[in-house]
Amino acid sequence: MRVFLGAAMAALLAFPAAAQSPRPDQAQFRDIYKELVETNTTLSSGSCTLAAQRMAARLKAAGFADTDLHLIVTPANPKEGALVAVLPGRNPHAKAVLLLGHLDVVEARREDWTRDPFRFIEEDGYFYGRGTADMKGQAAIWVDMLARFKKEGFAPRRTLKMALTCGEEGAPFNGARHLVSEHRALIDAEFALNEGGWGRMDESGKRIYLGINSGEKTPVNFRLEVTNPGGHSMRPVKDNAIYRLAAGLLKIGAYDFPIQTTESSRGFFAKMGPGLGGAMGAAMTAFAKNPQDMQAAATLATDPAYNAMMRTTCVATLLDAGHANNALPQRAAANVNCRIFPGTTREQVSAKLQELMGDPEIKITANAGRSPGGSAPPLTDAIMKPILAAAAKRWPGVPVVPMLEIGATDASYLTPAGIPTYGFTSIFFEPDGSRLHGLTERVRVSAIYEGRDLLTEVVKAYLK
Ligand SMILES: [Zn+2]
Repeated sequence: MRVFLGAAMAALLAFPAAAQSPRPDQAQFRDIYKELVETNTTLSSGSCTLAAQRMAARLKAAGFADTDLHLIVTPANPKEGALVAVLPGRNPHAKAVLLLGHLDVVEARREDWTRDPFRFIEEDGYFYGRGTADMKGQAAIWVDMLARFKKEGFAPRRTLKMALTCGEEGAPFNGARHLVSEHRALIDAEFALNEGGWGRMDESGKRIYLGINSGEKTPVNFRLEVTNPGGHSMRPVKDNAIYRLAAGLLKIGAYDFPIQTTESSRGFFAKMGPGLGGAMGAAMTAFAKNPQDMQAAATLATDPAYNAMMRTTCVATLLDAGHANNALPQRAAANVNCRIFPGTTREQVSAKLQELMGDPEIKITANAGRSPGGSAPPLTDAIMKPILAAAAKRWPGVPVVPMLEIGATDASYLTPAGIPTYGFTSIFFEPDGSRLHGLTERVRVSAIYEGRDLLTEVVKAYLK
Protein backbone atom coordinates (compact mmCIF):
# COMPACT_ATOMS: atom_id res chain seq x y z
CA MET A 1 0.00 0.00 0.00
CA ARG A 2 1.38 3.34 -0.65
CA VAL A 3 0.27 6.58 0.67
CA PHE A 4 -0.27 9.66 -1.09
CA LEU A 5 0.52 13.20 -0.22
CA GLY A 6 -2.22 15.74 -0.25
CA ALA A 7 -1.90 19.33 -1.41
CA ALA A 8 -3.71 21.67 -3.71
CA MET A 9 -1.24 23.09 -6.20
CA ALA A 10 -0.96 25.09 -9.34
CA ALA A 11 -1.61 22.92 -12.33
CA LEU A 12 1.04 22.15 -14.85
CA LEU A 13 -0.29 19.87 -17.54
CA ALA A 14 -3.76 18.50 -18.11
CA PHE A 15 -4.77 14.97 -18.95
CA PRO A 16 -6.83 14.50 -22.09
CA ALA A 17 -10.48 14.53 -21.06
CA ALA A 18 -11.86 12.49 -23.94
CA ALA A 19 -11.89 8.70 -23.86
CA GLN A 20 -9.14 7.15 -25.96
CA SER A 21 -9.28 3.83 -27.67
CA PRO A 22 -6.18 1.87 -26.78
CA ARG A 23 -3.32 1.36 -29.20
CA PRO A 24 -2.88 -2.28 -30.21
CA ASP A 25 -0.03 -2.74 -27.73
CA GLN A 26 -2.12 -1.09 -25.01
CA ALA A 27 -4.97 -3.50 -25.70
CA GLN A 28 -2.64 -6.42 -24.95
CA PHE A 29 -1.56 -4.80 -21.74
CA ARG A 30 -5.17 -4.06 -20.80
CA ASP A 31 -5.96 -7.73 -21.20
CA ILE A 32 -3.26 -8.72 -18.71
CA TYR A 33 -4.38 -5.99 -16.30
CA LYS A 34 -7.99 -7.20 -16.54
CA GLU A 35 -7.00 -10.78 -15.87
CA LEU A 36 -5.00 -9.75 -12.81
CA VAL A 37 -7.77 -7.59 -11.34
CA GLU A 38 -10.34 -10.30 -11.98
CA THR A 39 -8.20 -12.89 -10.21
CA ASN A 40 -9.15 -12.49 -6.56
CA THR A 41 -5.95 -12.37 -4.56
CA THR A 42 -7.28 -11.42 -1.13
CA LEU A 43 -5.89 -13.41 1.77
CA SER A 44 -9.36 -14.55 2.88
CA SER A 45 -10.73 -16.02 -0.34
CA GLY A 46 -8.28 -15.45 -3.16
CA SER A 47 -5.13 -17.03 -4.59
CA CYS A 48 -1.89 -15.31 -5.51
CA THR A 49 -0.72 -18.69 -6.78
CA LEU A 50 -3.45 -18.65 -9.42
CA ALA A 51 -2.48 -15.11 -10.43
CA ALA A 52 1.19 -16.14 -10.60
CA GLN A 53 0.31 -19.15 -12.77
CA ARG A 54 -1.72 -16.99 -15.10
CA MET A 55 1.10 -14.48 -15.47
CA ALA A 56 3.57 -17.31 -16.06
CA ALA A 57 1.30 -18.61 -18.83
CA ARG A 58 1.33 -15.16 -20.41
CA LEU A 59 5.11 -15.08 -20.40
CA LYS A 60 5.41 -18.62 -21.69
CA ALA A 61 3.09 -17.69 -24.56
CA ALA A 62 5.39 -14.73 -25.27
CA GLY A 63 8.35 -17.08 -25.67
CA PHE A 64 9.85 -17.41 -22.19
CA ALA A 65 11.55 -20.74 -21.57
CA ASP A 66 10.31 -22.77 -18.62
CA THR A 67 13.77 -22.46 -17.10
CA ASP A 68 13.33 -18.67 -16.91
CA LEU A 69 9.97 -18.88 -15.15
CA HIS A 70 9.99 -19.78 -11.47
CA LEU A 71 6.73 -20.41 -9.65
CA ILE A 72 7.58 -20.39 -5.98
CA VAL A 73 4.94 -21.92 -3.74
CA THR A 74 5.61 -23.13 -0.22
CA PRO A 75 3.61 -26.14 1.01
CA ALA A 76 2.50 -24.27 4.13
CA ASN A 77 1.07 -21.42 2.05
CA PRO A 78 -0.30 -23.03 -1.11
CA LYS A 79 -2.33 -19.97 -2.18
CA GLU A 80 0.40 -17.44 -1.56
CA GLY A 81 2.71 -18.24 -4.42
CA ALA A 82 5.11 -15.98 -6.27
CA LEU A 83 6.45 -15.73 -9.80
CA VAL A 84 10.02 -14.84 -10.67
CA ALA A 85 10.79 -14.36 -14.37
CA VAL A 86 14.20 -13.78 -15.91
CA LEU A 87 14.99 -12.16 -19.25
CA PRO A 88 18.70 -12.95 -19.62
CA GLY A 89 21.02 -10.12 -20.66
CA ARG A 90 23.90 -10.28 -23.14
CA ASN A 91 26.54 -9.56 -20.53
CA PRO A 92 26.55 -12.17 -17.76
CA HIS A 93 28.81 -9.92 -15.66
CA ALA A 94 26.46 -6.93 -15.67
CA LYS A 95 24.23 -6.95 -12.63
CA ALA A 96 20.51 -7.34 -13.17
CA VAL A 97 17.64 -4.90 -12.74
CA LEU A 98 14.70 -6.22 -10.73
CA LEU A 99 11.07 -5.24 -11.17
CA LEU A 100 9.22 -5.97 -7.95
CA GLY A 101 5.49 -6.11 -7.36
CA HIS A 102 2.86 -7.67 -5.17
CA LEU A 103 -0.06 -9.73 -6.41
CA ASP A 104 -2.20 -9.63 -3.29
CA VAL A 105 -4.84 -7.00 -2.64
CA VAL A 106 -6.59 -5.64 0.44
CA GLU A 107 -9.88 -7.32 1.34
CA ALA A 108 -12.93 -6.04 -0.54
CA ARG A 109 -16.44 -7.00 0.60
CA ARG A 110 -18.93 -7.26 -2.22
CA GLU A 111 -21.73 -5.90 -0.02
CA ASP A 112 -19.76 -2.73 0.70
CA TRP A 113 -18.99 -1.99 -2.93
CA THR A 114 -21.41 -0.57 -5.49
CA ARG A 115 -19.61 -2.67 -8.10
CA ASP A 116 -18.14 -6.13 -7.96
CA PRO A 117 -14.60 -5.41 -6.71
CA PHE A 118 -13.24 -8.28 -8.79
CA ARG A 119 -14.70 -7.12 -12.06
CA PHE A 120 -12.49 -4.92 -14.17
CA ILE A 121 -14.63 -2.04 -15.38
CA GLU A 122 -13.66 0.82 -17.67
CA GLU A 123 -16.04 3.74 -17.34
CA ASP A 124 -15.84 7.51 -17.74
CA GLY A 125 -12.09 7.40 -18.27
CA TYR A 126 -11.30 5.25 -15.22
CA PHE A 127 -10.43 1.64 -14.57
CA TYR A 128 -12.33 0.40 -11.53
CA GLY A 129 -11.71 -2.65 -9.38
CA ARG A 130 -9.80 -3.83 -6.33
CA GLY A 131 -6.10 -3.59 -7.10
CA THR A 132 -6.42 -1.28 -10.12
CA ALA A 133 -4.23 1.18 -8.21
CA ASP A 134 -2.53 -0.99 -5.56
CA MET A 135 -0.86 -2.48 -7.44
CA LYS A 136 -2.12 -4.65 -10.26
CA GLY A 137 -1.66 -1.82 -12.75
CA GLN A 138 2.08 -1.75 -12.20
CA ALA A 139 2.28 -5.54 -11.89
CA ALA A 140 0.54 -5.82 -15.27
CA ILE A 141 2.96 -3.24 -16.68
CA TRP A 142 5.87 -5.42 -15.53
CA VAL A 143 4.41 -8.62 -17.05
CA ASP A 144 3.48 -6.87 -20.27
CA MET A 145 6.94 -5.28 -20.49
CA LEU A 146 8.72 -8.62 -20.20
CA ALA A 147 6.37 -10.22 -22.70
CA ARG A 148 6.89 -7.40 -25.19
CA PHE A 149 10.66 -7.38 -24.78
CA LYS A 150 10.73 -11.11 -25.44
CA LYS A 151 8.45 -10.90 -28.48
CA GLU A 152 10.43 -7.95 -29.89
CA GLY A 153 13.65 -9.93 -29.52
CA PHE A 154 15.01 -7.11 -27.36
CA ALA A 155 18.42 -8.24 -26.11
CA PRO A 156 19.46 -6.00 -23.24
CA ARG A 157 22.99 -5.79 -21.90
CA ARG A 158 21.82 -6.42 -18.36
CA THR A 159 19.49 -9.15 -17.23
CA LEU A 160 15.96 -8.05 -16.40
CA LYS A 161 14.17 -9.86 -13.59
CA MET A 162 10.64 -9.62 -12.29
CA ALA A 163 9.34 -10.85 -8.94
CA LEU A 164 5.62 -10.81 -8.21
CA THR A 165 4.91 -11.88 -4.65
CA CYS A 166 2.09 -12.31 -2.16
CA GLY A 167 1.45 -11.05 1.33
CA GLU A 168 2.50 -7.41 1.02
CA GLU A 169 -0.79 -6.20 2.44
CA GLY A 170 -0.09 -7.47 5.91
CA ALA A 171 -0.42 -11.26 5.69
CA PRO A 172 1.69 -13.36 8.09
CA PHE A 173 3.52 -14.90 5.12
CA ASN A 174 5.37 -12.30 3.08
CA GLY A 175 6.58 -13.48 -0.31
CA ALA A 176 9.29 -10.82 -0.66
CA ARG A 177 10.75 -11.77 2.70
CA HIS A 178 10.63 -15.41 1.62
CA LEU A 179 12.49 -14.67 -1.64
CA VAL A 180 15.13 -12.73 0.25
CA SER A 181 15.73 -15.52 2.74
CA GLU A 182 15.33 -18.59 0.48
CA HIS A 183 15.96 -17.47 -3.11
CA ARG A 184 18.36 -14.58 -2.73
CA ALA A 185 20.50 -15.45 -5.78
CA LEU A 186 17.47 -15.77 -8.03
CA ILE A 187 16.37 -12.19 -7.35
CA ASP A 188 19.84 -10.69 -7.01
CA ALA A 189 20.05 -7.32 -8.72
CA GLU A 190 21.93 -4.06 -8.63
CA PHE A 191 18.70 -2.33 -7.71
CA ALA A 192 14.94 -2.79 -7.89
CA LEU A 193 11.95 -0.71 -8.89
CA ASN A 194 8.81 -1.20 -6.86
CA GLU A 195 5.48 0.46 -6.18
CA GLY A 196 5.46 3.87 -4.52
CA GLY A 197 6.36 7.41 -5.45
CA TRP A 198 3.29 7.95 -7.53
CA GLY A 199 2.50 10.99 -9.52
CA ARG A 200 -0.02 13.31 -8.05
CA MET A 201 -2.71 15.21 -9.95
CA ASP A 202 -5.33 17.72 -8.88
CA GLU A 203 -9.12 17.53 -9.29
CA SER A 204 -8.94 18.75 -12.87
CA GLY A 205 -6.42 16.08 -13.83
CA LYS A 206 -3.47 18.44 -13.94
CA ARG A 207 -0.14 16.97 -12.94
CA ILE A 208 1.48 18.37 -9.84
CA TYR A 209 4.54 16.23 -9.28
CA LEU A 210 6.06 12.85 -9.98
CA GLY A 211 7.47 11.14 -6.90
CA ILE A 212 10.29 8.69 -6.38
CA ASN A 213 10.59 7.02 -3.00
CA SER A 214 13.82 6.24 -1.27
CA GLY A 215 13.47 5.03 2.27
CA GLU A 216 10.32 4.36 4.24
CA LYS A 217 8.73 4.31 7.62
CA THR A 218 8.32 0.95 9.34
CA PRO A 219 4.84 -0.14 10.36
CA VAL A 220 4.55 -1.93 13.67
CA ASN A 221 1.33 -3.06 15.32
CA PHE A 222 1.27 -2.94 19.09
CA ARG A 223 -1.33 -4.92 20.99
CA LEU A 224 -2.46 -3.22 24.18
CA GLU A 225 -4.29 -5.46 26.60
CA VAL A 226 -5.89 -5.14 30.01
CA THR A 227 -7.25 -8.14 31.90
CA ASN A 228 -9.59 -8.07 34.88
CA PRO A 229 -11.42 -10.62 37.07
CA GLY A 230 -14.73 -9.27 35.72
CA GLY A 231 -18.04 -10.16 37.33
CA HIS A 232 -21.75 -9.40 37.01
CA SER A 233 -22.64 -6.03 35.49
CA MET A 234 -25.30 -5.41 38.14
CA ARG A 235 -22.42 -4.82 40.62
CA PRO A 236 -19.99 -2.62 38.68
CA VAL A 237 -16.64 -1.63 40.16
CA LYS A 238 -14.42 1.27 39.16
CA ASP A 239 -11.53 -0.95 38.04
CA ASN A 240 -12.86 -1.77 34.58
CA ALA A 241 -10.73 -3.18 31.76
CA ILE A 242 -12.47 -1.10 29.10
CA TYR A 243 -12.08 2.14 31.03
CA ARG A 244 -8.41 1.49 31.78
CA LEU A 245 -7.66 0.76 28.15
CA ALA A 246 -9.68 3.75 26.94
CA ALA A 247 -7.85 6.09 29.31
CA GLY A 248 -4.51 4.86 27.98
CA LEU A 249 -5.60 5.21 24.37
CA LEU A 250 -6.72 8.79 24.88
CA LYS A 251 -3.25 9.69 26.11
CA ILE A 252 -1.67 8.12 23.03
CA GLY A 253 -4.13 10.01 20.84
CA ALA A 254 -3.16 13.34 22.38
CA TYR A 255 0.59 12.85 21.86
CA ASP A 256 2.78 13.98 18.95
CA PHE A 257 6.12 12.26 18.43
CA PRO A 258 9.16 14.52 17.91
CA ILE A 259 10.09 15.96 14.51
CA GLN A 260 12.58 13.97 12.38
CA THR A 261 13.89 14.25 8.82
CA THR A 262 15.67 12.24 6.13
CA GLU A 263 17.46 13.50 3.04
CA SER A 264 14.44 12.57 0.92
CA SER A 265 11.86 14.15 3.24
CA ARG A 266 13.79 17.42 3.31
CA GLY A 267 14.27 17.14 -0.45
CA PHE A 268 10.53 16.73 -0.85
CA PHE A 269 9.68 19.85 1.12
CA ALA A 270 12.46 21.84 -0.57
CA LYS A 271 11.14 20.92 -4.04
CA MET A 272 7.47 21.34 -3.25
CA GLY A 273 7.56 24.59 -1.29
CA PRO A 274 8.26 27.12 -4.04
CA GLY A 275 5.65 25.70 -6.43
CA LEU A 276 2.95 25.43 -3.80
CA GLY A 277 3.29 28.96 -2.47
CA GLY A 278 1.06 30.38 0.25
CA ALA A 279 1.49 29.65 3.94
CA MET A 280 1.98 25.91 3.36
CA GLY A 281 4.59 26.47 0.65
CA ALA A 282 6.48 28.94 2.84
CA ALA A 283 6.38 26.46 5.72
CA MET A 284 7.83 23.74 3.47
CA THR A 285 10.68 25.95 2.34
CA ALA A 286 11.41 27.07 5.89
CA PHE A 287 11.25 23.54 7.26
CA ALA A 288 13.55 22.16 4.52
CA LYS A 289 16.11 24.82 5.44
CA ASN A 290 15.72 24.39 9.17
CA PRO A 291 13.84 21.42 10.62
CA GLN A 292 14.12 23.09 14.03
CA ASP A 293 11.67 25.75 12.82
CA MET A 294 8.79 24.68 15.05
CA GLN A 295 6.37 27.18 13.59
CA ALA A 296 6.93 25.78 10.09
CA ALA A 297 6.60 22.25 11.42
CA ALA A 298 3.32 23.14 13.12
CA THR A 299 1.92 24.49 9.85
CA LEU A 300 2.99 21.34 7.98
CA ALA A 301 1.48 19.17 10.69
CA THR A 302 -2.00 20.48 9.86
CA ASP A 303 -1.86 18.24 6.77
CA PRO A 304 -1.99 14.56 7.84
CA ALA A 305 0.32 13.40 5.05
CA TYR A 306 2.95 16.07 5.66
CA ASN A 307 2.69 15.42 9.38
CA ALA A 308 3.43 11.77 8.69
CA MET A 309 6.57 12.74 6.77
CA MET A 310 7.95 14.50 9.83
CA ARG A 311 7.51 12.08 12.70
CA THR A 312 6.62 8.64 13.96
CA THR A 313 2.84 8.30 14.24
CA CYS A 314 0.73 5.87 16.27
CA VAL A 315 -3.02 5.46 16.03
CA ALA A 316 -5.62 3.10 17.51
CA THR A 317 -7.13 1.02 14.72
CA LEU A 318 -8.94 -1.94 16.33
CA LEU A 319 -10.74 -2.64 19.60
CA ASP A 320 -11.74 -5.94 21.07
CA ALA A 321 -13.25 -5.93 24.55
CA GLY A 322 -15.76 -7.70 26.78
CA HIS A 323 -17.56 -10.98 26.33
CA ALA A 324 -21.22 -10.39 27.27
CA ASN A 325 -23.73 -7.54 27.53
CA ASN A 326 -24.27 -8.22 31.22
CA ALA A 327 -20.74 -8.97 32.37
CA LEU A 328 -17.87 -6.79 33.48
CA PRO A 329 -15.12 -7.05 30.86
CA GLN A 330 -12.44 -9.60 31.66
CA ARG A 331 -10.36 -8.43 28.75
CA ALA A 332 -9.98 -5.26 26.71
CA ALA A 333 -7.51 -5.04 23.87
CA ALA A 334 -6.63 -2.57 21.16
CA ASN A 335 -4.38 -2.54 18.16
CA VAL A 336 -2.25 0.56 17.85
CA ASN A 337 -0.70 0.94 14.43
CA CYS A 338 2.57 2.84 14.49
CA ARG A 339 4.57 4.09 11.52
CA ILE A 340 8.09 4.38 12.80
CA PHE A 341 10.43 6.97 11.35
CA PRO A 342 13.80 5.77 10.02
CA GLY A 343 16.30 5.94 12.85
CA THR A 344 13.81 5.13 15.60
CA THR A 345 13.47 1.61 17.00
CA ARG A 346 10.30 -0.26 17.89
CA GLU A 347 11.60 -0.61 21.45
CA GLN A 348 11.78 3.17 21.78
CA VAL A 349 8.22 3.53 20.55
CA SER A 350 6.96 0.77 22.81
CA ALA A 351 8.59 2.40 25.82
CA LYS A 352 7.09 5.76 24.87
CA LEU A 353 3.58 4.31 24.61
CA GLN A 354 3.93 2.67 28.02
CA GLU A 355 5.20 5.92 29.51
CA LEU A 356 2.37 7.94 27.98
CA MET A 357 -0.32 5.61 29.30
CA GLY A 358 1.26 5.49 32.73
CA ASP A 359 -0.59 2.28 33.60
CA PRO A 360 1.45 -0.89 34.07
CA GLU A 361 -1.77 -2.92 33.91
CA ILE A 362 -1.91 -2.18 30.17
CA LYS A 363 0.41 -4.77 28.65
CA ILE A 364 2.10 -3.94 25.34
CA THR A 365 3.35 -6.47 22.81
CA ALA A 366 4.70 -5.72 19.33
CA ASN A 367 3.95 -7.99 16.40
CA ALA A 368 6.85 -9.49 14.49
CA GLY A 369 6.14 -7.26 11.52
CA ARG A 370 8.66 -5.87 9.12
CA SER A 371 12.30 -5.50 9.87
CA PRO A 372 13.52 -1.94 10.22
CA GLY A 373 13.79 -0.63 6.68
CA GLY A 374 17.45 0.28 6.83
CA SER A 375 18.83 3.50 5.46
CA ALA A 376 17.35 5.12 2.38
CA PRO A 377 19.09 4.11 -0.87
CA PRO A 378 20.86 7.05 -2.52
CA LEU A 379 19.20 8.74 -5.49
CA THR A 380 22.26 8.44 -7.73
CA ASP A 381 22.61 9.85 -11.23
CA ALA A 382 22.37 6.34 -12.62
CA ILE A 383 18.92 6.02 -11.06
CA MET A 384 17.70 9.55 -11.61
CA LYS A 385 18.95 10.54 -15.07
CA PRO A 386 16.71 8.18 -17.08
CA ILE A 387 13.72 9.20 -14.95
CA LEU A 388 14.40 12.92 -15.27
CA ALA A 389 14.98 12.66 -19.02
CA ALA A 390 11.82 10.64 -19.68
CA ALA A 391 9.67 12.80 -17.41
CA ALA A 392 10.96 16.09 -18.85
CA LYS A 393 10.17 14.89 -22.36
CA ARG A 394 6.61 13.81 -21.53
CA TRP A 395 5.65 16.23 -18.81
CA PRO A 396 7.84 19.32 -19.08
CA GLY A 397 7.71 21.46 -15.96
CA VAL A 398 6.36 18.72 -13.71
CA PRO A 399 8.91 18.30 -10.91
CA VAL A 400 10.31 14.90 -9.99
CA VAL A 401 10.46 14.92 -6.20
CA PRO A 402 12.23 12.58 -3.79
CA MET A 403 9.98 11.21 -1.10
CA LEU A 404 10.11 9.35 2.14
CA GLU A 405 7.46 6.63 1.93
CA ILE A 406 5.03 7.12 4.79
CA GLY A 407 3.35 3.81 4.11
CA ALA A 408 5.40 0.68 3.76
CA THR A 409 6.28 -1.64 0.94
CA ASP A 410 8.33 -4.75 0.35
CA ALA A 411 11.30 -2.45 -0.20
CA SER A 412 11.71 -2.85 3.55
CA TYR A 413 12.86 -6.45 2.93
CA LEU A 414 14.97 -5.94 -0.18
CA THR A 415 16.87 -2.79 0.69
CA PRO A 416 18.36 -4.17 3.93
CA ALA A 417 19.25 -7.38 2.03
CA GLY A 418 21.50 -5.44 -0.35
CA ILE A 419 19.08 -4.77 -3.20
CA PRO A 420 18.42 -1.01 -3.04
CA THR A 421 14.75 -0.66 -3.86
CA TYR A 422 13.13 2.52 -5.13
CA GLY A 423 9.44 3.29 -5.25
CA PHE A 424 8.72 4.47 -8.75
CA THR A 425 5.35 4.02 -10.37
CA SER A 426 4.98 6.99 -12.73
CA ILE A 427 1.22 6.59 -12.61
CA PHE A 428 -0.54 9.82 -11.64
CA PHE A 429 -3.14 9.20 -8.97
CA GLU A 430 -6.24 11.19 -8.12
CA PRO A 431 -6.38 13.76 -5.31
CA ASP A 432 -8.24 11.15 -3.24
CA GLY A 433 -5.26 8.82 -3.56
CA SER A 434 -7.18 6.69 -6.08
CA ARG A 435 -8.94 5.16 -3.05
CA LEU A 436 -6.13 2.78 -2.22
CA HIS A 437 -7.39 0.11 0.18
CA GLY A 438 -10.81 1.80 0.04
CA LEU A 439 -14.08 1.45 -1.80
CA THR A 440 -14.32 1.85 -5.56
CA GLU A 441 -10.57 1.88 -6.11
CA ARG A 442 -9.79 3.39 -9.48
CA VAL A 443 -7.10 4.75 -11.78
CA ARG A 444 -7.42 7.12 -14.69
CA VAL A 445 -7.09 5.17 -17.94
CA SER A 446 -4.77 7.73 -19.53
CA ALA A 447 -2.58 7.75 -16.40
CA ILE A 448 -2.04 4.00 -16.63
CA TYR A 449 -1.17 4.06 -20.31
CA GLU A 450 1.17 7.02 -19.95
CA GLY A 451 2.82 5.54 -16.87
CA ARG A 452 3.37 2.33 -18.79
CA ASP A 453 5.09 4.21 -21.62
CA LEU A 454 7.32 6.07 -19.21
CA LEU A 455 8.28 2.97 -17.24
CA THR A 456 9.14 1.15 -20.44
CA GLU A 457 11.45 3.95 -21.51
CA VAL A 458 13.12 4.18 -18.10
CA VAL A 459 13.65 0.43 -17.75
CA LYS A 460 15.09 0.23 -21.28
CA ALA A 461 17.55 2.97 -20.37
CA TYR A 462 18.60 1.09 -17.22
CA LEU A 463 19.23 -2.09 -19.21
CA LYS A 464 21.60 -0.51 -21.72
ZN1 LIG B 1 0.78 -1.99 -2.74
